[in-house]
Amino acid sequence: MFVATKDRPLATTITGSLPRPQWFTTGLDRRAFSISMGGRVFREQYTDAVQSLLGDQKRAGLDILVDGDMRFDLDIGGRSWFGYIFDRLEGLGSVDVRPQPQYPSPREQTPGDILHEVSETRMPPVVEGPVGRGRLEYTDVWKAAQRLVAEPVKLGCCSVQWIEMYAQNKHYKSREDTLFAMSEALNQEHHQLADAGCPVIQIEEPAIHFNDNGNLGISQDTYVEAFNTEVRGLRDKTEVWCHTCWGNPFAQKIEVGPSYKASLEYLDRLDVDVITFETAANNGAEFAEIAAGISSDKKICIGGVYHRTLEVERPEDVASLIRRALEHIEPGRLVISSDCGFGRQGMSRTHAFYKMVSLVAGTNMVRRELGLEETPILAADKRYSFM
Ligand SMILES: [Zn+2]
Repeated sequence: MFVATKDRPLATTITGSLPRPQWFTTGLDRRAFSISMGGRVFREQYTDAVQSLLGDQKRAGLDILVDGDMRFDLDIGGRSWFGYIFDRLEGLGSVDVRPQPQYPSPREQTPGDILHEVSETRMPPVVEGPVGRGRLEYTDVWKAAQRLVAEPVKLGCCSVQWIEMYAQNKHYKSREDTLFAMSEALNQEHHQLADAGCPVIQIEEPAIHFNDNGNLGISQDTYVEAFNTEVRGLRDKTEVWCHTCWGNPFAQKIEVGPSYKASLEYLDRLDVDVITFETAANNGAEFAEIAAGISSDKKICIGGVYHRTLEVERPEDVASLIRRALEHIEPGRLVISSDCGFGRQGMSRTHAFYKMVSLVAGTNMVRRELGLEETPILAADKRYSFM
């Protein structure tokens, strides 16, 4: 159901991750969130970091806020996006000997390529027994942010499709059995989060758009069914998003010349309210196909700013992209975001901040043209400039 974007045409948000404040020097270090929050230094630094990043987003004028993925450790190439789950899901253990990746890309296998450093340090887990929720504690993580602000806070988390792809299965009969066991475990976790009142749950990256020819060893139909198991029943309780992009380790694209076209019919079968697409990267080249491929019961969230470049888009650029999207998608079904997250090793907090300001300023230009209510942007308010 629509909650956070209900009655809000052109609602704005960002994907999830933000650069860490430099003074946030502690981390979970693979412990449970609830245990770490019992530590004086971690609790203070974590809460202040989330508060600061929520404050940045409010000054930029975003409608739906995120906690910046501050639960993730400072590791190589954003390992924690997977690793937060690797390290906490029940039934998973650590590898003794580094296994070969099941589906390595050529870049990952090439020493000297930045993506090789990512795969070299990822250390996938072993599935040793029945998979359960373990200590994911998404509800506590969301509450720790939502109790700091009145605005809706979206919580995003990696789909288990990537966890299964990297894990070495020594327990289940097949990859499919492993995938569905993990999807069931996460479904329980998400229901607790929805019952607690989380206004948007965002599941990040089904494998579907990377699996055009079934090259990941699981059929598209199975991936659709598994994703719908992961989110089963959630739309009756809250707003459910599916985030898609073309990769973000060290802010790198992990496919060359990617296209959504072949996967749209499968993405449209996902049991979600909103699907996000990476569109700033190619200047909206696939707006028409995306609009034609996604059914009207779903909203379409486009990327208005790019997470892989330091050049901050001008509000005029953002507005121009939104106007072109509006040629295919009505305002009530259009949501504006970043292509993917801004953290943790791609850009500075300053770059991320001004990209957020531009995103909202550009959206306001279009809102004005459509007669929609604009969002105040404190960061751009002339009254508070020193000059
Ligand atoms: Zn992404």
